[in-house]
Amino acid sequence: MKQGESFCNLATYISETVIVGSGAAGYNAADTLYRMGNSEVVLLSEDLAFGTSRNTGSDKQTYYKLSLCGSEPDSVRAMAEDLFNGGAVDGDLALVEAALSTKSFLKLSDLGVPFPTNRYGEFVGYKTDHDPKRRATSAGPYTSRFMTEFLESSLKERGAALLGGFLVVKILVDEHEVKGVLCLETKNSRFCIFWCRNLIWATGGPAVMYANSVYPASQFGSSGLAFEAGCKGRNLTEWQYGLASLTPRWNVSGTYMQVLPRFFSVDEKGIVHDFLRDQFEDSYHMLSLVFLKGYQWPFDVRKISKGSSIIDLLVYRELEQERRVYLDFTRNPIEGDVDFSSLDTDAYVYLKHAGADFGLPVDRLKVMNAPAYEFYKERGTDLEKDMLEISLCAQHNNGGLAVDLWYQSDVAGLFAVGEVAGSHGVYRPGGSALNAGQVGSARAASYIMKKCHDENWVPTCCSREQIEEILALAKSGVGREDTAMVVYRKVRKQMSLHASLLRRYEDIHALREEIAGYLAEFETLQVNAPAHLPFLFRLRDCLLSQVVYLSAMEEYIKAGGKSRGSSLYLCSDGEPLHPLLPPDFRAHLEEENPPSFLQEVSFKGGVCAFSWRAPHPLPLEDDFFEKVWKEFREHGNVY
Ligand SMILES: Cc1cc2nc3c(=O)[nH]c(=O)nc-3n(C[C@H](O)[C@H](O)[C@H](O)COP(=O)(O)OP(=O)(O)OC[C@H]3O[C@@H](n4cnc5c(N)ncnc54)[C@H](O)[C@@H]3O)c2cc1C
Repeated sequence: MKQGESFCNLATYISETVIVGSGAAGYNAADTLYRMGNSEVVLLSEDLAFGTSRNTGSDKQTYYKLSLCGSEPDSVRAMAEDLFNGGAVDGDLALVEAALSTKSFLKLSDLGVPFPTNRYGEFVGYKTDHDPKRRATSAGPYTSRFMTEFLESSLKERGAALLGGFLVVKILVDEHEVKGVLCLETKNSRFCIFWCRNLIWATGGPAVMYANSVYPASQFGSSGLAFEAGCKGRNLTEWQYGLASLTPRWNVSGTYMQVLPRFFSVDEKGIVHDFLRDQFEDSYHMLSLVFLKGYQWPFDVRKISKGSSIIDLLVYRELEQERRVYLDFTRNPIEGDVDFSSLDTDAYVYLKHAGADFGLPVDRLKVMNAPAYEFYKERGTDLEKDMLEISLCAQHNNGGLAVDLWYQSDVAGLFAVGEVAGSHGVYRPGGSALNAGQVGSARAASYIMKKCHDENWVPTCCSREQIEEILALAKSGVGREDTAMVVYRKVRKQMSLHASLLRRYEDIHALREEIAGYLAEFETLQVNAPAHLPFLFRLRDCLLSQVVYLSAMEEYIKAGGKSRGSSLYLCSDGEPLHPLLPPDFRAHLEEENPPSFLQEVSFKGGVCAFSWRAPHPLPLEDDFFEKVWKEFREHGNVY
């Protein structure tokens, strides 16, 4: 990294490649470039310790790759087909993510991520959701944290430039080509510019948009800035939402449900509602569905009438009425003792085998999964006596920025890797997010190395207006009152209510108009101290993201899109969903399998333009070895 000449009175730095984001994807992009001998790289992050990879986890945080154990056959093609069958997934990207999964996984293992092997060295796997093989593995609850830690150490050993405290507030672009990024230094509220030729955008999922979120509190995302710079969005409507506790933010999947806790809610007056028990006539049916919820996370529209997603919707109904929802592990959900033999056979057999067909939910939890009990205790919630507040939370965005085979976006030189990229569709196997992040970052790095690396490269500036606009916002944005916070709280709460698992056209339309209004008058919003400027710019990104995501949902409904994945679109002429839901809970469910509806959106001058297409098919190329080898000798594989 070199120092450049001052521009718009700001300090400037020059680096051929700038990576933004210190999650598993950003670190791997940097590490891959360094390993290829390219050190013209700087990695920026608002804080090196922020982000989903570093700060999240789950019962058994999963990594998905080609099967590397046992006798069941597996192949790159078979894995690609399974990724493709998630629906609305491009076949060529599915093939890339399958093809590079082993290499990416083994690199992490070699770096030290403790993926378990048996004594013969096999990476023993298990089946995850939407996975017909045993392709999943895990290094425990904190797989992604291990990934960031080992990649970061590797980079530090190489003396890589890793800079925390730099919040990117604008991507600088001219003629649809990236020029650099404008940053706000969080420690002193000063702006500076990094000029670059290649920008790897590894900013993670746009968690900032939702109030109810199981993303860690330190993850905001920056998809809005990328839309503003000209990147297209793809499959933005496709998310995963599910039940999670709020403090700490943690999915209440697996054993937390299998031990059959009691659900209840509390209204504004403090009145307690046993809302689940009160609605099910057959309480053992209710208990069996709660058990099933343990391995049916996230919410899935196909599992409302047959499956456990009705539980999510009944929780949602409580939230809609401004009630807070809790899990109670200190009491059984029905009066008196539970007669376990009256549960559905699967639940009964499982609990009996686990030696957990007795007592209270917390007793069963301690028997079946003591670490799951300890997890909350260590964080100040003792499930022996404390109630656990839960909500329906956003967990993962399957869609994101549209990318090509090398994870380059529509803006020349701007690559999107990790969760911010939209390589998944409606469904995806559990663990494939971490795989996609590693594969995408390695691909972008390889492309840059082969096509966009030149020691004699010199930067070219962008127009001054893009920088002056942001500097003016910073000037007008500090005042006496914190109006920005009021808007921030309001829009995120509204997003969770109207644009998460349950979507009604009128609500989405009204919310999109309201948010577009805040954006149009953004210069009137203020924070009350210069030190809070990062927050002002996060709000700006939040509003930009929300407008584009809401527009995508609105357009999806207008185009006749049906309910699919984790998104339920209510409509008056749809089919009734479940006898326990009000009559207006009607929807059309997507029948195509896999769903083939792929939506792309571009955002220009505050207006969204849409296009629709079928996904690219899985490639069927002639893989005769001598032919590929000749091409590889002549051109490498980047073409
Ligand atoms: C509870 C939970 C459980 C999960 N379980 C699994 C699982 O089992 N398997 C699986 O495959 N996936 C799982 N996921 C998803 C997976 O963890 C994430 O998709 C993945 O970690 C994202 O990695 P990333 O590198 O793309 O982004 P992140 O790790 O989120 O990193 C983003 C980085 O960008 C930085 N950044 C953002 N904007 C800016 C800006 N403007 N300027 C500077 N820096 C910026 C952030 O600070 C951060 O450092 C789970 C997610 C959650 C929330």
